[in-house]
Parts: sequence; C-alpha cells; structure tokens
Amino acid sequence: MANVRARQRLAPSRTVDTRTAHGHRHRAATGWFVWLVILANAVMTIVLWARGGNVSGVHSGAALLNSLGRITGLLGTYLLLLQVLLLARFPWIERLTGFDRLTVWHRLNGKVCLYLILAHVALTTIGYALTDRVSISREASLLLQNYPGMVTAMIGTALLIVVVVTSLIIVRRRLRYETWYLVHLTAYAAIYLSWTHQLPTGNEFLTNPATATYWTTLYLITLALLVIFRIVQPVYRGFWHRMHVEEVTVAGRNVVSLHITGRHLDRLDARAGQFFLWRFLTRGRWWESHPFSLSAAPDGRSLRITVKNSGDFTSRIGEIVPGTAVLAEGPFGVFTDDVRRRDRVALIAGGIGITPIRALLEEMSCDLVLVYRVLREDDLVFRDELEELAWDRQMPLFYVVGDHAVPVGERLMSPEHLGELIPELAERDVYLCGPPVMTDILEQNVLRAGVQRKHIHIERFAL
Ligand SMILES: Cc1cc2nc3c(=O)[nH]c(=O)nc-3n(C[C@H](O)[C@H](O)[C@H](O)COP(=O)(O)OP(=O)(O)OC[C@H]3O[C@@H](n4cnc5c(N)ncnc54)[C@H](O)[C@@H]3O)c2cc1C
Repeated sequence: MANVRARQRLAPSRTVDTRTAHGHRHRAATGWFVWLVILANAVMTIVLWARGGNVSGVHSGAALLNSLGRITGLLGTYLLLLQVLLLARFPWIERLTGFDRLTVWHRLNGKVCLYLILAHVALTTIGYALTDRVSISREASLLLQNYPGMVTAMIGTALLIVVVVTSLIIVRRRLRYETWYLVHLTAYAAIYLSWTHQLPTGNEFLTNPATATYWTTLYLITLALLVIFRIVQPVYRGFWHRMHVEEVTVAGRNVVSLHITGRHLDRLDARAGQFFLWRFLTRGRWWESHPFSLSAAPDGRSLRITVKNSGDFTSRIGEIVPGTAVLAEGPFGVFTDDVRRRDRVALIAGGIGITPIRALLEEMSCDLVLVYRVLREDDLVFRDELEELAWDRQMPLFYVVGDHAVPVGERLMSPEHLGELIPELAERDVYLCGPPVMTDILEQNVLRAGVQRKHIHIERFAL
C-alpha cells in the first residue's frame, strides 16, 4: 500500500559555498593532469613502436599485419597496466571520479585490453605465416616452439580470457563474488607473463635498450603503486588507527549497525556520503572485504556502518562481537557535499541506500528535502533519527512505501509522482542512492522529471 508522509519545509535557501567551487576547480585540474600522463605514455608507446621500424619497414601485406600486431600488443598491455591502476585505490584518481565510475571504466577497459591482445595474437600469427609461407596452424606451432616466452604469453592470454568472461555480468551473477574475485587475481599473473614475453621478443625492445628500460619502468611504477595503496597503506593504517567494533545494534528488520572506534579517526579525512572497504579480523571473515557506506557523519571519534542482510557475509555480520579488530580501506567515493552544484538538494534513498543519505542529511547545510523509498513499512530504518534531523532542519521528509508491482503502487516514484512530492525538483541537485536496479529506475525517473544529468549524483550499491 502506498503511504506518503510529508512535513512542511521552512529552511531558507543559501548560495553554493566557496569550498564547493574550489573543490570543482581542484578536481578539474587533477583530472587534466591524470589524462595528460595517460595520454603522454600512450603517445610514447606509439612513438617507440614507430621507431622500431614498424612504419618505415612496411613494404608488404605480411609486414603490415606484423606491424599492426605489434602496436595492438603494445597498446593492449599498456591498457592492462592502466587497468590495474584504475582499481589500485590510488587516492588522486579515486577522488577525481569515484570508485563506482572507476569500476565501470575498469570493466570497459578490460574488454578493450582483451580485444587488442587477441588482435595482436591473430595479426602476428597470420603475418608470420604469410612471411614464412606456411599455414596459420603450422605458424602457431612454430611460434610456440621457437620464440622465447611464447608459451607463457599463451597462458597469460588464456588467463585474461577467463577473467573477462567471468566478469561478464551474466556469468558473475551465477558465481559467488569471492570465486569471481579469486579468478580475477590471476590477471596479475597474466600481466607479469606479458612482460616476460614482450622483452625478449619485441623488436622495439631488442633494437633499443632504452625502450626496454622505459617499458619495464612502467611495469615497476604500476607494481609500486599497487603494493603501496593496496597492501602497505591499509596495513599501516590498521596499526595506526587500531580500529575495532565498539558496539553492534539492531537498526531494523534484517539490518544491524556497527559502531567502530579507534585512534586518530579524524585523520581519516572521511566525509558523509563516503564508504570504506571493511575487513573484520575474525576467523572465516578476515580474507574478505566488503564496501559499506558510513551511516552517520564522521565525528573524528567513531564511525558507524549499517548493513542489511543480503547474502552470506551480511547475514552473519550481526554475530561480530565488540572488540573485533577492523581494517578499513578508504574513504572512497565522491557522493559528498563537494560535488553539489546548487544550493537546493533533493536526497532520494531506495531501501538500504538510506545509509549515506542519512549521513549526508546530517552534514549538509543547504535547502534539503528527503524522499525515502521502501517496499514495506518495516523496511524503514533510522526513522527516529531521520524525523529528528528533519524536524531540526524544518525540512520535508517523505516516506514512499509500497510495492510498485501491484496496481496501487504503479505510480510510486514515477516522474509525475516525484513532481508532486517535490514540485521544484528540476531546480535541485539530486543525490540518489540504493541497490543497483532500484537506482537505475530512479535515475531514469529523475531525468524524466526534468533534472539535468550533471545535477544527479549517484551511489549505486554495486562495484
Ligand atoms: C559503494 C557501496 C556502498 C555500500 N554500502 C552499503 C551499506 O551501507 N549497507 C549495506 O547493507 N550494503 C551496502 N552495500 C552493499 C554491500 O556491499 C553488499 O550487499 C555486500 O557486500 C554483499 O555481501 P554478501 O556476501 O552478504 O552477499 P553476496 O550474496 O555474496 O553478494 C551480493 C552482491 O553484493 C556484491 N558483493 C558481494 N561481496 C562484495 C564485495 N566484497 N565487494 C563488493 N561487492 C560485493 C555482489 O554484487 C554480489 O552480487 C554497498 C555496496 C557498495 C558498492
């Protein structure tokens, strides 16, 4: 049944503060710098390919295929290194665009890498077969027998294929997340094998030792950043912050809150709306980390997360006992007040997506309205807290309860319904968070209600 509640808004409107404008400029400058570095190295890769005789030496169809085979191989492996950096938890890049967008790019880039590397295998084999005047299968066997690093390169390519195939969403849904993750780790082996193949066989590297040094340096920098940001920093921070669970409380039906405390938490520089990758150091849990958003604005002394039972890990999270040590990677995400462009904001939460919205509500000081969408009344969490915050701020709070699959709920959260709840929605920035399917539908409805894409900020609970 649809059930909508509202309170009168009395909050005055404000202008966008200078901190936000400065944040936009800083992010834009960092963005340009990152793109410049990426582009410069891509150009460098093309230059070293061209200087390796791959343009001037092309006088036949076979030479052309070999030359194209080399550039696809070089660019494919260059993108493979970027692939690692995209999710190396490199704070500059993460703050620029947000973890979820990086994940989207990572997925896309992964496919491009594989296509380029497969093109490299096909073009090179055909090119060499034409040069040697033998069949393609005979050439493939000759390459494997006579060239150093070919067998390992073949294993690396096979690993990449497995990684990409298991990552296709349709396959991933049939796999346990942890299984997919373990398979994914083999991509590092594939990258190492590509390097051991390239240096002893690549024309560009054999003819010019400086290019070999440059290429190896790219691999080493990538490895260093990976080790620093994915291993050293989280472990160091773990020791420094000594985070542990202080209290576990029930927040609602199938939902618990974990209150986490530690030392120097103010130095985490966390903001409302952000999330961490949490690892609870108990037997059976220490090896998996899961993303959960802060459900209260960080106060420098403690952090709170609120978790809904949605699978094997989350169903047992309420069993964690106070005192359990915690490693937290982060903070991540750009779903913060910093990305706001206007002084009027609509916060829209779907289901457990209320967690970062609840934190934002506490931190944001502009003209706010909150719409909280759930299927059942007992899915509402933080009800008392939300009502208290809304009352303090004299802002409207709407609960939209009901199943849109039944006729009475069909209109819920439609563009028309949103327009009735928030008549001036198109003049607001919209912060939207929830499970992936719900968020996608709500995003479309918000767009159709007239809000421009640049004014919609989304946290999708899926990486
Ligand atoms: C940025 C972000 C913030 C989130 N914040 C919250 C929150 O505040 N409260 C909350 O209840 N949920 C939150 N989630 C969702 C939560 O991370 C998943 O529900 C949880 O990891 C599921 O784990 P599971 O083993 O219980 O379920 P499973 O059945 O194993 O997985 C269910 C789905 O969750 C995803 N998932 C599982 N494990 C991981 C993992 N280690 N890393 C990334 N995704 C995973 C997969 O897409 C999987 O299909 C958030 C997700 C993201 C991406």
